[in-house]
Amino acid sequence: DRLVGGAADDEERAVEAALRPTSLDEFIGQDRVRDQLGLVLDAARARGKTADHVLLSGGPGLGKTTLAMIIAGEMGAPLRLTSGPAITHAGDLAAILSSLNEGEVLFLDEIHRLARPAEEMLYMAMEDFRVDVVVGKGPGATAIPLELPPFTLVGATTRAGLLPAPLRDRFGFTAHMDLYEPAELELVLRRSAGLLKVDLRPDGASTVARRSRGTPRIANRLLRRVRDFAEVRGTGVVTGPVASAALEIYEVDELGLDRLDRGVLTALVKLFGGGPVGLSTLAVAVGEEPETVEVVAEPFLVRAGLLARTPRGRIATPAAWHHLGLVPPAPAPV
Ligand code: ATP
Repeated sequence: DRLVGGAADDEERAVEAALRPTSLDEFIGQDRVRDQLGLVLDAARARGKTADHVLLSGGPGLGKTTLAMIIAGEMGAPLRLTSGPAITHAGDLAAILSSLNEGEVLFLDEIHRLARPAEEMLYMAMEDFRVDVVVGKGPGATAIPLELPPFTLVGATTRAGLLPAPLRDRFGFTAHMDLYEPAELELVLRRSAGLLKVDLRPDGASTVARRSRGTPRIANRLLRRVRDFAEVRGTGVVTGPVASAALEIYEVDELGLDRLDRGVLTALVKLFGGGPVGLSTLAVAVGEEPETVEVVAEPFLVRAGLLARTPRGRIATPAAWHHLGLVPPAPAPV
């Protein structure tokens, strides 16, 4: 439910659908991924074949689903969406695979959470376009081979490192999606503002972009909140000062940190002198579960260079002290 969280619920996904770019040309940023993927798709089209299987890795909200839709669109193929956790038995996967049409693109989100038997079935399906469907149980069980039409699997994962090598190796192309630069997010915001008919001024776009944690989903979400503020408290025009005032109300600061993030940093600096301090001690100090601190707050604090995880515990970097308006202690003499 965080305003600056990466994940989206169904309601937000419905709103997002209207903002999705539909071609590679419209997709902003990730230049290397876009170039390489463009080549993969052009080559497949030139040969009149289905495209190689594609693995997209990157954090939530960076555009993996959008890219899967673009791949299908560019190949003129239908798209089927499913996810690792939705497939609990190999039979579920067999049912999906055997109902695919030739050339169809199958988007498998959170592929790292696929159950083991389904994952093994996927190896053969990806490589030979074939699955063995097991009929019966116990000693009488028999495997009936089933031919599949050629299809393109687009797997998405936030954790490429968790994928077993045999699965990773079966993708013809792997794209690593990085956080976006503020300038790229400004382009995302300008495009979204056009679609949503928001009068977004350049200083408004840069204010929102800098607080969006490198993530288009968060940028679009903040834009919607800032628009509300501009319409209710202003004239509807989103300037830099209007965006700042709106995001102050929502407690999103200049770096995109929210109340939880700042709580963690403040405890670390003010209660523990900047650390090192253990995760559970830190969590108690901010009144959260250790997992919330570790999974929800820390990844971005680490990426932003504000917090470091060391074998002795968490420490605040000098940048964290500065961000809180404090002076970091002088380094101990060597
Ligand atoms: P999740 O892992 O949570 O499913 P995701 O990586 O699949 O997230 P998307 O759903 O594709 O993310 O993107 C989230 C929102 O951000 C969408 O509204 C999408 O239109 C927008 N978006 C993502 N990447 C871009 C981009 N490069 N250019 C413009 N808009 C983008």
